[in-house]
Amino acid sequence: MDKASKIFVAGHRGLVGSAILRKLQTEGYSNIVTRTREELDLRDQQAVNRFFEEERPEYVFLAAAKVGGILANSTCPADFIRDNLQIQTNVIDAAYRYGVKKLLFLGSSCIYPRNAPQPMKEEYLLTGSLEPTNEWYAIAKIAGIKMCQAYRRQYGFNAICVMPTNLYGPGDNFDLKTSHVIPALIRKFHEAKAEGKSHVVVWGTGNPRREFLYVDDLADALLFLMEHYNSEEIINVGIGKDITIRELAELIREVVGYEGDIVFDLSKPDGVPRKLLDVSRIHALGWQAKTPLREGLEKTYRWYVEHRRENV
Ligand code: GDP
Repeated sequence: MDKASKIFVAGHRGLVGSAILRKLQTEGYSNIVTRTREELDLRDQQAVNRFFEEERPEYVFLAAAKVGGILANSTCPADFIRDNLQIQTNVIDAAYRYGVKKLLFLGSSCIYPRNAPQPMKEEYLLTGSLEPTNEWYAIAKIAGIKMCQAYRRQYGFNAICVMPTNLYGPGDNFDLKTSHVIPALIRKFHEAKAEGKSHVVVWGTGNPRREFLYVDDLADALLFLMEHYNSEEIINVGIGKDITIRELAELIREVVGYEGDIVFDLSKPDGVPRKLLDVSRIHALGWQAKTPLREGLEKTYRWYVEHRRENV
């Protein structure tokens, strides 16, 4: 990929896509193509084919997906499986047909079995059953991985598949019904502080363990992999450390500067007990995450305060 290469960032308004765009712009890539959802519905095969035929991008970052937290995933299973299968099938196939040189497909750490040994290595894919709260999304992502691998084997198409751990950062979704845990807690603590509430409700037992990667670190890894990685094997991106939801809640309480209590709502699901990626493969290639969790949370909180009105 050189600075004048034509690069399509699919999903450039999302958490990951917007971070990729920032990174490409900072690095001086000057020929970036984007389309909003209103301009191009990636679920529409004909529209996607037309777009690739006209634009002929050379590189594709496929960061467009229907994503959401534990509640959205378990309450809208049809939307999660359909939208994701459609988006990725259309984009991967059109990219191959219209001569894209390389495509990067984003998966997720939830593709690994619920009871996989921790930390999770890439080879644990399809060795056991999935976490039920997000299996619809996970099945779609696994189909995307297999499609990339099949297109590489049969057509020699250079598609790589990257599995990021749980992400957070500027541009995240702060809607309490559909968001992931970090934006939800940032918002809950911020509002509780502003309104002088005595406590904040955190879902589940607080015992599940999660690993969190700052999205700008992910974008850095994606560029690195686009330049240096050309294998059909999936590759994990994470920080290699996890914390409990209780510890996370305490940390966010500190970052926001809230002094009330934390109350756990046991009627809400915990989801998978632990989700920690083994990141030895990407470390061996020479890439490591840079942003400590506290610093990433501070930056995300600052972004939330500055953009709050657009988000509520
Ligand atoms: P997951 O990693 O796919 O389970 O996605 P989430 O980020 O939605 O949830 C991670 C963990 O945080 C789960 O155990 C949730 O129950 C817990 N959690 C605690 N409070 C909240 C909240 O307010 N919103 C969300 N989405 N999760 C929460």
